[in-house]
Amino acid sequence: TASAITGPKSSAARTAPGQEVPLVIEARAVEKHFGTFHALRGVNLSVRQGEVVVIIGPSGSGKSTFIRTLNALDPHDGGTITVDGIPLQGARNLDAIRREVGMVFQSFNLFPHLSVLDNITLAPTRVRRASKAEAERRGLELLRRVGIEEQAHKYPAQLSGGQQQRVAIARALAMDPKIMLFDEPTSALDPEMIKEVLDVMKELARSGMTMLVVTHEMGFAREVADRILFFDQGNIVEDTTPEAFYTNPQHERARQFLGKIL
Ligand code: ADP
Ligand code: MG
Repeated sequence: TASAITGPKSSAARTAPGQEVPLVIEARAVEKHFGTFHALRGVNLSVRQGEVVVIIGPSGSGKSTFIRTLNALDPHDGGTITVDGIPLQGARNLDAIRREVGMVFQSFNLFPHLSVLDNITLAPTRVRRASKAEAERRGLELLRRVGIEEQAHKYPAQLSGGQQQRVAIARALAMDPKIMLFDEPTSALDPEMIKEVLDVMKELARSGMTMLVVTHEMGFAREVADRILFFDQGNIVEDTTPEAFYTNPQHERARQFLGKIL
């Protein structure tokens, strides 16, 4: 697509004209089976550094399965995946990949018995071997970035859903990932909390983060996405700009889908 050639519109760290923007995700002919069910059917995708890619499609089309294969939460069983130059094969590169790729889920998945700040400092102190003081300094900085520094010493259950999701984003950022994956990050939120989470994601996109976001939030997609991928039955059937997708989807299934969500 044009955006893949010229580089992302969202990236603050845009490279000079003609300069190659590196590929950070390369998926080639990716397959995934669950028993006899064929969940991913030869998925191909290249994502350049700083691109913001929104993934939409019907329930059960493989969106979650695909992004989970990108940080090996679910191992793929055919084809190849390379993340920031690291081939994702078997168990060998799992730790390296998971340091590169942060993930935010629909259901927050915070540790309920840890304070907000401890949720954020856990991985940096254990995996990155940061000192407690350094991890806390950085944790508070990230909480300020997502707008909830004053909640640092509360427990997740004392926070609203929107606040918990912002903690989950800060926790993922604490590992300094190169890529952030979001799987329907606002689907479990009450309507009044969706905006505060999307605003944090927009800021992240503008800062140049490479992001893959499964979401049906069209406003977000139109404002910050460089590309829209439409999944259907285990494959990407449309890969285009938000403008082209929302005004003139090429694929019949995409037309039907838009008819339902708009
Ligand atoms: P989406 O996120 O697009 O709604 P998923 O990637 O979650 O879809 O699922 C794709 C298909 O794979 C669905 O039919 C789902 O039932 C199946 N599936 C996903 N995870 C598993 C699993 N762990 N075991 C068996 N089937 C699964
Ligand atoms: Mg899903």
